[in-house]
Amino acid sequence: MTQLREVSLTPKGWRWQQRGHPWVYRDDLAGAPELAPGELAAVKDPAGRFLGQAFYSGASRIALRFVTYGEEAVDQAFWARRLAQARDHRRRVVADADAFRLIYAEADGFPGLVVDSYAGHLALQSLHPGMERRLAELLDLLVGELKPASITLRHDAEARRLEGLAQEVKTVFGELPPRVEVREGPVRFWADLREGQKTGLFLDQRENRRAAAAYARGEVLDAFAYQGGFAMHLAPGAARVTLVESSGAALAVARENVQLNGLNNLELVKANAFTSLKAAVDAGRRFDMVVLDPPAFARSRGERAGALKGYREINRRAFQLLRPGGVLVTCSCSYNLSDAEFLAVVRQAAADARRQARLIERRGAARDHPGLLSLPESLYLKCLVLEVL
Ligand code: SAH
Repeated sequence: MTQLREVSLTPKGWRWQQRGHPWVYRDDLAGAPELAPGELAAVKDPAGRFLGQAFYSGASRIALRFVTYGEEAVDQAFWARRLAQARDHRRRVVADADAFRLIYAEADGFPGLVVDSYAGHLALQSLHPGMERRLAELLDLLVGELKPASITLRHDAEARRLEGLAQEVKTVFGELPPRVEVREGPVRFWADLREGQKTGLFLDQRENRRAAAAYARGEVLDAFAYQGGFAMHLAPGAARVTLVESSGAALAVARENVQLNGLNNLELVKANAFTSLKAAVDAGRRFDMVVLDPPAFARSRGERAGALKGYREINRRAFQLLRPGGVLVTCSCSYNLSDAEFLAVVRQAAADARRQARLIERRGAARDHPGLLSLPESLYLKCLVLEVL
């Protein structure tokens, strides 16, 4: 093994690192290290003791991301072992679906790498120069071990910009059809790995969509619906499902999903959900179930105040719209908002609407998105199921 170049932490950086977080900020490095972007470095504490091996970034505020806390060689066999572990975990937790997250970055020991599998077609995001430098090696490994139908780089993620990495979307192995048909329990979806949001679908909500299906009945409102992820699961149990979504492209696919599933009780509305929820309240409409799955309102700490206001408003409207006994499925994917803070804002919204509610389920991301305990950023998704009295 070639000798790794070294980087040392300041006393403050070392104390932070000892708390377990796998990232080190630039201010916490002792001096300016002579390292190339994406280089693997040996990390030392202020007394020169070895702490682990980490990828270096020259551009981002996050200077180091730990890869391993041991001295083992980080080579093809190392990544192959981590890939095998990632696959084992999915075999255990993904049942009855062929679209799932295979590699969830730090939580699977691949800092800055996301790989989603859609019926054998892979969508990959390398979000760090450490992974970018090893991309060819990683692609070889994925092809060799998984025999995928295709691999597409979804390198249009904002996180790449922060790392100074180029934006591109490109199929680098095999052939990707314009849309891939995937299965999620009893439901079928079209997934567009090139143009769809995230890498095609919101896979983190898979188990929440299936859980929600158990409560479907009567008139259902699916707000911030995307391609009808929740709606397709709810329609069989409901009399009627109304989808509200602002993206025309997403609604066009939702329409095709309706056909794919042979459904006929959905209404698709292209609108701003804030406006449409208010209009429904003003018109005196009532629902038996409401799903709220908005995009992250708080993308940074600075956006928190506005985000809280937004969550409070849409949840208040939902409580106003629900009949007694009705069910609210309300989600937040803002990691800048804790579980407790989200619960508090939903409680406030119920009070604003003068409704009482029972908390039936507290849920998070699907089990193929296992958050790393020491990386709060990876524990972002919250999903509450409430019954209104
Ligand atoms: N529930 C979906 C995922 C929803 S993602 C699923 O399970 O697949 C959030 C969606 O909200 C995105 O499709 C985005 O286009 C849409 N959106 C964002 N702002 C909106 C707004 N103000 N009104 C309506 N839809 C909005």
